Amino acid sequence: MNFSTDIRYIKGVGSVRAESFKKLSVDTVGALLRYYPRTYEDWSRVYSVKEAPLNENCCIKAIVSDTPTSVRIPGGRTLSKTSVTDGIGLMNMTFFNNKYIKNMLKEGEEYYFFGKVTLNRYGAREMTSPVFRKAASDARIVPVYPQSNTLTSKQIEKVVKTALDEIATVPEYLPDTIIRENSLCSLDFAIRNIHFPADYASLERARNRLIFDELFALQLGLLSIKNRTRTLSGCVIKNDCSGEFISTLPFEMTNAQKRAVREALSDMQKNEPMNRLLQGDVGSGKTAVAAALIYTVVKNGYQCAMMAPTEVLAEQHIRTFEKLLRDTGISAVLLTGSTKAAEKKIIKEKLKSGEISLAIGTHALIQEDVEFGNLGLVITDEQHRFGVAQRTSLSEKGRNPHIYVMSATPIPRTLAMILYGDLNVSVLDELPPGRQSVDTYCVGRDYHERIYKFIKKHLDAGSQGYIVCPLVEEGESDIVPAEELYGLLSQSEFASYRVGLLHGRMKPKDKDEVMRSFAAGNIDLLISTVVIEVGVDVPNATVMVIENAERFGLSQLHQLRGRIGRGSEKSTCILVSDAQNEEAKTRFDIMCRTSDGFKIADADLKLRGPGDFFGKRQHGLPRLALADILTDTELLMKAQRAANKVIEDDRYLESEKNRKLRRQVETLFADNYGV
Ligand code: ADP
Ligand code: MG
Repeated sequence: MNFSTDIRYIKGVGSVRAESFKKLSVDTVGALLRYYPRTYEDWSRVYSVKEAPLNENCCIKAIVSDTPTSVRIPGGRTLSKTSVTDGIGLMNMTFFNNKYIKNMLKEGEEYYFFGKVTLNRYGAREMTSPVFRKAASDARIVPVYPQSNTLTSKQIEKVVKTALDEIATVPEYLPDTIIRENSLCSLDFAIRNIHFPADYASLERARNRLIFDELFALQLGLLSIKNRTRTLSGCVIKNDCSGEFISTLPFEMTNAQKRAVREALSDMQKNEPMNRLLQGDVGSGKTAVAAALIYTVVKNGYQCAMMAPTEVLAEQHIRTFEKLLRDTGISAVLLTGSTKAAEKKIIKEKLKSGEISLAIGTHALIQEDVEFGNLGLVITDEQHRFGVAQRTSLSEKGRNPHIYVMSATPIPRTLAMILYGDLNVSVLDELPPGRQSVDTYCVGRDYHERIYKFIKKHLDAGSQGYIVCPLVEEGESDIVPAEELYGLLSQSEFASYRVGLLHGRMKPKDKDEVMRSFAAGNIDLLISTVVIEVGVDVPNATVMVIENAERFGLSQLHQLRGRIGRGSEKSTCILVSDAQNEEAKTRFDIMCRTSDGFKIADADLKLRGPGDFFGKRQHGLPRLALADILTDTELLMKAQRAANKVIEDDRYLESEKNRKLRRQVETLFADNYGV
């Protein structure tokens, strides 16, 4: 028997049970041994009846004093009762719906019982539905597996035990040096002890080893993906033309912006491709930095591509760049999912021939049949929405272009280490002068009348405003969709104002029209769904009302709020919600207290955990079974160092001696993309 043996060849597993295992994605011995316990029950500390703590799980050892008796109770259930003793104390045992209990618990025999001890109304001790096993078995730390309808934890445990007994040793795949340098236990020890820990110290060692393995494979995978794009030298940017561009801007760049431009240029002047992340809170002026880089790269004879997560944003970028680059003779095109086929064909030809210098778009840009003649720089905006794989596939479009990633979501260090590994980071830690923080309030729905009055005051003063509505799912009657609110307000309350509507199901052309006219000041009040979320820039907008604010995550609220407070006027954000749950209230509280993107991101991460933080699946990272990338920082650093060493002399993880490592990486990344 080895790791690839089909599960049904394990003793005690027939074809029926094998099917049940397959439903848990366990089809081989190897997969079974990687089906780790969810938690453990401590059977190693055995209490007497008298000393057992109340109301928490514990283990007692006792002899059954009578054969269990069963009675039927209402609802078609059976209730079984017996009592047990350890010679001093006496305890009642109650079980529900287990007809076999009288065959399983024999009078006069000794068992371990695991469960909660409670006091009944007469003050006697009892346990309800405890788990039990024969006292002859060793008391120890017992694994608890994620079970299914057809497989109990106990059944899984038994099969794992059989498999571990039959398999000689779990073969090691890590090189000796890595094991030694990181003080790891062997894989055999780790696998045996993660299932059946000899004691807590062994469990800890086992976990450490397995978490290291996961993080190591993760880092190896990410590094080798990165390296694949790094074989050829980058496009060396010989001439720094950023100064002449910056002087044409209608504003003076902040020192942070100038520094960011400098840092990126010094990367691009080397003959290795740049890999840099620009972090800057909403409104910090990332676009101008991007424009300066684009200008310089194009003047050096290369093309640029800029990718945005939504069409609205791509459309806004093209408008901004057309304005910023107007007098430079640089031609830009927009390529999104809704670009017409005929137009797309022409654009693709011009991109291939190099006639067009700048392409701005959505995912459409990374579709396989788009080719660039001479791509020198790829910029992705709002990076956290693109997976690693997508970033890679865009960079493969050129002969290894420079990569610049812009993000308004400050990424905590541990996550950045994983997502970007060896990316360099520039930070815009300074907002353009004259920005004021946005006053934020949270009110109940009964405030609507006052809110509308408040909005009117702003509109009458010549400012503009947003009302943001959540997306409504089918069957939700308590939430007013944007369309309906628009119908309502434009007919009544705001009849004498110019009210606009923007939502995701509108045709791109119509969306574009609305955004254009809002930006031009021809719409006073825009009622919108989250399509305005990222990046939209209208400095004259000074008030935002977010309806059903409980429906938005913290980072999303922060992004939304970032649409106002972009000019010199004081801005106000009003969160409207009747939600009573603590988590929502915490979010509102943070929003009202701070506008610091880093603090908000940290809080968001704590509230939601890393998976949700980036949106499920969007980060493109494999699922980790044991590792927690937020807390296992130390192991993560060890794993990263070890991975770096391996990759240093085998950049693509191709050499024969690393074949086993490569297989681990492939398994980990299997669901995501080929490595
Ligand atoms: P973000 O970093 O959120 O993408 P933008 O690039 O959209 O921010 O910039 C926000 C606004 O600030 C834009 O209207 C832009 O023209 C303006 N801006 C950028 N840099 C400066 C600056 N140095 N001084 C004044 N205004 C600036
Ligand atoms: Mg932006």
